[in-house]
Amino acid sequence: MALVRTEAFVLKAFRYGETSMIYRLFTRDRGVVPVIAKGVRRPKSRFGASLDPFHRLQVVYYDKPGREIQTLSQVELLAGHPGVVGSLDRMEAAGTWFRFLRAVVPEHAPAETLYDLAVTALDRLDHVPPESVRRWETYHRAIAAERLGLAPRLDQCAACGADLPDRAGMTLAIEEGGLACAACGSRGGSGRMPVGSDLYGLLLLYHHPDWSLVADLDESGAAEARVQELVHRFVDWHADLGARVRGARR
Ligand SMILES: [Zn+2]
Repeated sequence: MALVRTEAFVLKAFRYGETSMIYRLFTRDRGVVPVIAKGVRRPKSRFGASLDPFHRLQVVYYDKPGREIQTLSQVELLAGHPGVVGSLDRMEAAGTWFRFLRAVVPEHAPAETLYDLAVTALDRLDHVPPESVRRWETYHRAIAAERLGLAPRLDQCAACGADLPDRAGMTLAIEEGGLACAACGSRGGSGRMPVGSDLYGLLLLYHHPDWSLVADLDESGAAEARVQELVHRFVDWHADLGARVRGARR
């Protein structure tokens, strides 16, 4: 049995017995790890209130290979995100983001790049104005998809490899894995969605590593709402999320 020390977020919590809880942790070093926190619901528990949602934690747990649920030993609060838990809009966005993570983070496998993105995303969410939380959520889902190898190709036609953008028109071909040029798009296929030049520019921004390019966009209009829909449909289809993100248990 080894002691593992790593950073983590709580993805989900379940009551267990009279005084304990089971948490599904999203750990930096081991991906998703279920742990039991014995006695955490006792009034004077040494774990305190640190295991609340959206807290970034330093955790220590006993790791026994082959055991389904590991035993939590210590927790220390690293960041509480008061801006997130103090706003209903931000809290809902964070909840959706964590449901997404729950569906795509591997179990018992390193997940540094996704974990670091989760840290950055929550730090940003503390300061996102309520009218921009959808923007925040879609942007980070697109970047997470990129880190998972699920992002759409935006520089070449996913069907024939022709350079994009194509002035004659493009479509998003979800199942083919990205944008299709006009010639390939005209051959049809179900679920093709037209992408004009305004949407194309926004789609590039939503996949750009610099969040401020999206954060500083002017007031979001119909085109941006359309791009957000495209990103969500693309990522969810490729991550096979559908039912899971809508709340079903994994
Ligand atoms: Zn093509």
